[in-house]
Amino acid sequence: MIEILRKIVQQVNAAEGLAEALEIIVASVRESMGTEVCSVYMRDLETGGLVLRATRGLNQAQVGIASLAPGEGLVGLVAEREEPVNLEDAESHPSFQYLPDLGEEKFHSFLGVPIIHQREMLGVLVVQQVERRRFDESEEAFLVTMSAQLAGVIAHARVTGAVVKGESSGEGASARVSGIPGAPGIAIGTAVVVSPSADLYTVPKRRAENRRRELRAFREALDCVRADIQTVADNLGSELNPEDHALFDVYLGILDDSTIGAEVAGLIKAGEWAQGALSQVMIEHIRHFERMEHSYLKERAVDVRDLGTRVLAYLQESTVESRSYPANTILVAEELTATSLGEVPRHQLAGLISVRGSGNSHVAILARAMGVPTVMGAVDLPYTRLRDHELIIDGYTGTVHLNPSAELRQRFQQALDQDLALSRDLESLRDQPCETLDGHRMTLWVNTGLMADVTRSLEQGAEGVGLYRTEVPFLLRDRFPSEEEQRQIYRNQLEAFAPRSVTMRTLDIGGDKALPYFPIQEDNPFLGWRGIRVTLDHPEIFLAQVRAMLKANEGLGNLRIMLPMICNTAELEAALALIRRSHREILQEGLTGELPPIGVMVEVPAAVFQARALARRVDFLSVGSNDLTQYLLAVDRNNARVAGLYHSLHPAVIQALESVARACRAEGKPVSICGELAGDPEGAVLLLAMGYDVLSMNSTSLPRVKKALRSIHLREAQALLAEVLLLEDVSAVQQHMQLFLAEHGLGQFIHNPLD
Ligand code: PEP
Ligand code: MG
Repeated sequence: MIEILRKIVQQVNAAEGLAEALEIIVASVRESMGTEVCSVYMRDLETGGLVLRATRGLNQAQVGIASLAPGEGLVGLVAEREEPVNLEDAESHPSFQYLPDLGEEKFHSFLGVPIIHQREMLGVLVVQQVERRRFDESEEAFLVTMSAQLAGVIAHARVTGAVVKGESSGEGASARVSGIPGAPGIAIGTAVVVSPSADLYTVPKRRAENRRRELRAFREALDCVRADIQTVADNLGSELNPEDHALFDVYLGILDDSTIGAEVAGLIKAGEWAQGALSQVMIEHIRHFERMEHSYLKERAVDVRDLGTRVLAYLQESTVESRSYPANTILVAEELTATSLGEVPRHQLAGLISVRGSGNSHVAILARAMGVPTVMGAVDLPYTRLRDHELIIDGYTGTVHLNPSAELRQRFQQALDQDLALSRDLESLRDQPCETLDGHRMTLWVNTGLMADVTRSLEQGAEGVGLYRTEVPFLLRDRFPSEEEQRQIYRNQLEAFAPRSVTMRTLDIGGDKALPYFPIQEDNPFLGWRGIRVTLDHPEIFLAQVRAMLKANEGLGNLRIMLPMICNTAELEAALALIRRSHREILQEGLTGELPPIGVMVEVPAAVFQARALARRVDFLSVGSNDLTQYLLAVDRNNARVAGLYHSLHPAVIQALESVARACRAEGKPVSICGELAGDPEGAVLLLAMGYDVLSMNSTSLPRVKKALRSIHLREAQALLAEVLLLEDVSAVQQHMQLFLAEHGLGQFIHNPLD
């Protein structure tokens, strides 16, 4: 069964649009279940009715015509109940609705299952038979499994269909894809699709601008790969026995195979660009080998893929130079990386869309720092086909609009203009203190990582740095930076802000932050080797980093050191001992300077419960609410599927935050927060009321938070907190907070979807 399922899903995945996908589904389900009828009814987005969209066994002429209102007929019943209906004799059921011309009179048994994607009812999948019998348990289970697997593919095909229609008619149908808010703001622009270096499966389709040039590039790339393989073979000549050596002959044989080369050349001559032609032909051949029964031949698929990727790498190298970006570039990729952000000149970059990842992925954090509207986790986006399409990004709600209508475009343009007006208004706050109406002063710091953050932060009136993510400069290199390189990087940060404090966090890798040159492969990386766990296991990395920080601090004295992912006092004691040792060492080397203040990040539930014990041992605590929320709610911060459950205002999170603040007060230690919640006006109001001393956020959020806190009284926020602490569910908290903002003239910080 798994094999059948896999095959059908694969075929449906390759379909160009919804109609083709549904055709494949009805044909293959009917065949694999041996039924006489298989049909799909899809919910009409406007009327909510269920329209027959594909069938095998019923009257084909009724496709697109036969329709049932919501709740009407057996199909309507399946949709309404959102569960299977399995009947021996359909006509005798009270919900049965006779549709003339459909030709279903002779079919008695009926099994219908709903197609549901991300809680949305997309349609109903039905099988029917002449014989009066109830479908047995295994058949029902098969259809339910099939429908659950196909739901995502159907949702995807719906959007692809809109794009493909646009490609053939020149006028794309509008479509909307939901993702996760990555960075706030609206962008209207043109899609530029970036594929990772050499991935055959993500090459966009594109017409060749100059066929002869593409053909030449392909032939040159082939020659380069041939030469590479020959060199490898020659180099290994004496170390390999003759059997192993034969592998290279096989490789070269595949490349020399006239069919593959001729097929690629044929496609290029027909107008496809070299990369597209190569990927199509290679994928076809890979599939062909994968389908082979014989394991030796199956293995050839791996070789073909490898060779195809090598050729592609050469082709891509030759095209990297020539990539040009339109004025309002919206960068689209399967998985955007920190480096892809740097590829487009900032003034041409309007927005970012990543099919994978979520609002707390590092690229999203960077995008917020740079103020680039971003949507993450747009899993249903047929991104490889979007080149040059007009897109709108709503970074507030995490929505992408393809080929928007003129009316929708105008609405978004207005919202964009309003946003610009608001930020001009906020600029005037730059030199004003962050003080509530009743005179309570709140310290606003920023989170940094790039040097770009520094300038921006100072422009926005930052009073210090609450989190400098040291892994960012590590991420942008191809090896660990040396102690001296680190010292210079840290010195730049410290100097730029002096005499204001700069809180440097020791290397926090693992989880979603992998260094390209230090890969960590784990089944469960967020519960694995990350943060302080890695650096305590590698004291040489930790010591070099701390020494670099201490040296950079010489003569400035504005450094604070912060430790990520602390789960117990033993880890803290061990890290403290290493920091003290580094300090002693640099003093012995003749440098001067006090031991800087040291703090602990509270980002795992254990640290919340041990906040007093931790606070007692250090100078400050700082809550990392991004991770804390993830661990408290058991919701992966980068998994688009569960992003809807990632609530920073969940009552459990609010109580945890409040309890950390209380613990610090009891120990007489300052407490700050450096997760994204600090930059959210709603979160900031609650944190003020809890008694947080410092809110550290990305610089884009700073003026908004300042405006929000300057518009309220501390005692009002405290009264609000007392009420919120009694609430038991997220939506009640959200409503309460929105009402509070609206009542205080802060309605502009509540973002309502525009569609
Ligand atoms: C956090 O977890 O809230 C935090 C600030 O750290 P990071 O987002 O870098 O994991
Ligand atoms: Mg963290």
